[in-house]
Amino acid sequence: LLDTAPRIIDRPNAKPLASALGAISFKDVGFSYDGAKRALDGFTLDVPPGKTVALVGESGAGKSTIFNLLLRLYEPQSGEIRIGGEPIAGVTLESLRDAVALVSQDAFLFNESIAENIAMGRKGAGDADIIAAAEAAAADAFIRRLPKGYDTLVGDGGNALSGGQRQRVAIARAFLKNAPILLLDEATSALDAESEAAIQSALARLMKGRTTLVIAHRLSTIRASDLIVAVDRGRVIETGTHDALVARGGYYSKVLRLQQA
Ligand code: ADP
Repeated sequence: LLDTAPRIIDRPNAKPLASALGAISFKDVGFSYDGAKRALDGFTLDVPPGKTVALVGESGAGKSTIFNLLLRLYEPQSGEIRIGGEPIAGVTLESLRDAVALVSQDAFLFNESIAENIAMGRKGAGDADIIAAAEAAAADAFIRRLPKGYDTLVGDGGNALSGGQRQRVAIARAFLKNAPILLLDEATSALDAESEAAIQSALARLMKGRTTLVIAHRLSTIRASDLIVAVDRGRVIETGTHDALVARGGYYSKVLRLQQA
């Protein structure tokens, strides 16, 4: 995988992203993976700087595709994505990816030590930075209980750790990276109650002051966000706060009932 030539490279006149502190806007974005079925279709959304927007919708609605396009793992076939008014198609991939931290439920861990896995968040990070990031991610205590502490090898794909532990390593990476934009793919799998509480409060700290897009599954996350965006078949079909959308009794309230069933 690492040897695969990237399909998306910098445009000839690419410039570094001027600022990642502005709004993120998707304007009429259309995208298909296979040229037939549309994953996003006229997707339009403004994410105000520093706010948290929860993406809600059934599996296959297009939520992960929104992340893929913002990271330029794929490029839209129509429409445009901007950060702080600047089209991301014209910025260098390095500056774009430096500006964005991704925390996903299947964060990739390499079979190296926990310290090295956290350090991937930022080149050249020292031990003190790594430990501070682990503390912020509620990971320091479990790491210290491992046989070799921060030097413990995590196994292939991190299989020596539980799901909740792997997620906290991913959160620690993001703290270390300290990017202004955060993409969070919340875990769908159940975690034990202690991990759950620790992860929720670590995520709340991580989101603070950043522009966050979260693929949300937990009602607590959805309620705490500034704006909820219901996505269906690649389009935004409802936006609003939790209370407003429940009162409306539309798509969101239906999805909510399904999720809680
Ligand atoms: P969600 O994150 O809301 O579950 P996705 O963005 O993953 O939805 O998927 C949107 C649509 O794109 C779905 O129809 C899905 O099958 C399709 N899709 C997602 N990833 C790929 C891929 N790598 N190749 C082909 N089709 C894909």
